[in-house]
Amino acid sequence: MALIRQRKLTKQQLRRIDKQQAQQQESLDGSLMDGVVMAHYGKQLEVQVTSLPAIIPSPPVVAEGDPEPFWQAIELGDIWRCHVRTNLPMLATGDKVRWVADPNTGFGRIESVQPRTSLVSRPDRYHKLKPVAANVDILAIVFAPLPAAAPNLIDRYLVVCHHADVTPLLVLNKADLLSIEDYAFTKELLTQYQSLGYEAVLTSAPCPENILLNPVDDAQVKASDDVMADTAETKETSVQPTVELGLTDLQQKIKDKLVIFAGQSGVGKSTLVNALLPNSDQSVNIISTNSKLGQHTTTTSRLLPFDPQDLTQGGIVDTPGIREYGIWHLTPDDIIAGFVELSPLAGQCQFRDCKHTHNSKGCALWEAVAEGKVMQRRVESLVTLQAEADTPTY
Ligand code: GDP
Ligand code: ZN
Repeated sequence: MALIRQRKLTKQQLRRIDKQQAQQQESLDGSLMDGVVMAHYGKQLEVQVTSLPAIIPSPPVVAEGDPEPFWQAIELGDIWRCHVRTNLPMLATGDKVRWVADPNTGFGRIESVQPRTSLVSRPDRYHKLKPVAANVDILAIVFAPLPAAAPNLIDRYLVVCHHADVTPLLVLNKADLLSIEDYAFTKELLTQYQSLGYEAVLTSAPCPENILLNPVDDAQVKASDDVMADTAETKETSVQPTVELGLTDLQQKIKDKLVIFAGQSGVGKSTLVNALLPNSDQSVNIISTNSKLGQHTTTTSRLLPFDPQDLTQGGIVDTPGIREYGIWHLTPDDIIAGFVELSPLAGQCQFRDCKHTHNSKGCALWEAVAEGKVMQRRVESLVTLQAEADTPTY
């Protein structure tokens, strides 16, 4: 063991150091405030002021004739560009933080991060997993009759939700198209997921293609009603829901919640997000955006609140990369854990290394398919995703 010669401090010196540290802590405590990470620019973050500091700094007194120094008052709801203390873990949009704002520079510094209720991550271009959104409540898995839904993609997002601690919500958009016979497949798919216990809503985003702008005709409303009625647990106890083509049901489900939208291209995610955030460019005071620092960097994710002055009302985290969500970082066991009806069968196959391919000897999953207990499609989906996890593409 290396010998470290320590300088002996006198009791008086030790007392003085303690006092200095206490004073520093006290002044930091007085400046600390609550905030939420609104956007991520690599090294810098944008943080909204959600509580004021205990000690509100006052502007410097300027002698007459002297130039006014820069001074940025701290106001609730303002958004500040912030640095992060070096010893903190990587932060994500949606993180709740304790931070200090420096009115002399217009920049803040994040001091600590509160425990997260959930964390959505995605691989960066080097296949390293990066946190993109914290404290998200709902991952809306959007699918539509057109482009035809890829069930395997829905299953993939359900696995992602399981591991991110986020509640999935199936959103069948373009419900205005459901009256068309060709889309029986999509209706059946919705029914299947509802029977597994997943919540689902029908939506029809206001856009030139749909009939929302015109009066809804009976055939279309009926088509949506049938989907909901068929999926009700027992017909006797179920109340026939009145399905309104539009966003009302979705709005109801995501009220006060932080939501991420995922799903394949063309299903209407942007249209939905725009319709849900009609005032997304409302007046929020964004401090220090003119700074040269970080000017040319792009955001990796951004929180778009339903009410810009009140984050408790929820909002949408816009994260471009979530669509190409890889699951290579998960093990085959992690993947089966995300299949709600198949996970109880994990480890029940005759051979421990069973790959669950069709008709594998002693495979508990295929036995359950044969007995009609689980859907073949879901077992095939599991096998595809497990194979992907087994063979990472890097
Ligand atoms: P994204 O790629 O998922 O963001 O999809 P977009 O929002 O760009 O929408 C793709 C296309 O679908 C656009 O032409 C939209 O106008 C159309 N669209 C979106 N929502 C609906 C809907 O509810 N009904 C119909 N019929 N078309 C829709
Ligand atoms: Zn098996």
